[in-house]
Amino acid sequence: MTSSLPVVASDSKLEILSAATRQSPEWRDWRWQSRHAVRSLEGLQAHLELSSSELEGAKRAAARGLPISVTPYYLSLCDRYDVRCPIRLQCVPRVDEADVAPGDLRDPLGEEEHEVAPHLICRYPDRALLLVTDRCGVYCRFCTRSRMVGEGGGARSLAALQPAFSWLRAHPEIHDVIVSGGDPLLMSTTRIAGILNALASIESVHYVRVATRTPVTLPQRITEELCDALRRSHPSAWIMTHFNHPRELTSEAAKACSRLCDAGLPVMNQTVLLRDVNDSAQQLETLFRGLVRLRVRPYYLLQADPVRGTSHLRTSLEQSLELVGALQGRISGIAMPKFIVDTPGGRGKVALLPSGIVRAAEGVTTLRTFRGEEVDYVDPPTRPASRSHAMT
Ligand code: SF4
Repeated sequence: MTSSLPVVASDSKLEILSAATRQSPEWRDWRWQSRHAVRSLEGLQAHLELSSSELEGAKRAAARGLPISVTPYYLSLCDRYDVRCPIRLQCVPRVDEADVAPGDLRDPLGEEEHEVAPHLICRYPDRALLLVTDRCGVYCRFCTRSRMVGEGGGARSLAALQPAFSWLRAHPEIHDVIVSGGDPLLMSTTRIAGILNALASIESVHYVRVATRTPVTLPQRITEELCDALRRSHPSAWIMTHFNHPRELTSEAAKACSRLCDAGLPVMNQTVLLRDVNDSAQQLETLFRGLVRLRVRPYYLLQADPVRGTSHLRTSLEQSLELVGALQGRISGIAMPKFIVDTPGGRGKVALLPSGIVRAAEGVTTLRTFRGEEVDYVDPPTRPASRSHAMT
């Protein structure tokens, strides 16, 4: 698409966030958004009043850390002045990224150790993870794959993914493939369709999940053409997205989710619990209720992985469990995700809940309800062995 806007440096201030630009057809063009993503300290400075911590963080990121990229759309959700803005905390680097806390890991889920073919990771008996690109619209400061995103490889070609497809063909026990990156939907529609077609041709792969943050950071990407292509390329494609804060539930994001759902693509959401971003029961409740209204199922609430340089964004497990406890009973089951800790080293996910058991005696268990009441649950009487045999 030819832009009618003046040709400007990608970080130029007025052009990318002006009221006129936001009303223009270019604003609704995902490629324009992607081309005009802010990728430098100067670009951030042009739109936000940076704190000294952000200034230092951006310098460090530009020199050697997780790169910076913020789409004009996502930047428009940031508060220009408030350094505690929950959107800004997710996309603007801070000096704290230089800190390495005990337990921090470069590859917290041991993905490199579990790589079974180039770009293919297998940590469970029935599913695998295919990393098809290193590019994202926004580089999230808490990213589990900060070791590799934006590293320069770009979208992987179908030829580069052939060994992964061959491995999947040789392992019919794998039924579920998560297509991730980076963000797969940053690739061209033709390329993503090619990958899904290749996976659809492997009989033992029953369903695929496309993990993408574009409905959150680049909702313009969710075009009807893309939804049609996803739907046609794999009969059982699911979309896994990643909303973290109610402020991300904009009308553009709602339209993107509607398009996906209307195309028959089930949409699930994974929220990462982040300090000062969404670590309040009220914020999480608003987020989860808002997602259900958009027909997006809150699937997981994730304890943040111990990624090197992200300890300033993580909550303690005790705080997280308190939050989960506060949400129990407060929102309906359809809006309540599972709380998950992905164990360091890639040993698998553990679902946690604050214990509802007060005490257990012979045949009677005392439970604590969400209102704090204690209620006994009585087990059925033990059946005599002869009677239970008689039933068979
Ligand atoms: S979009 Fe996903 S892969 Fe990309 S930086 Fe954010 S969390 Fe990481």
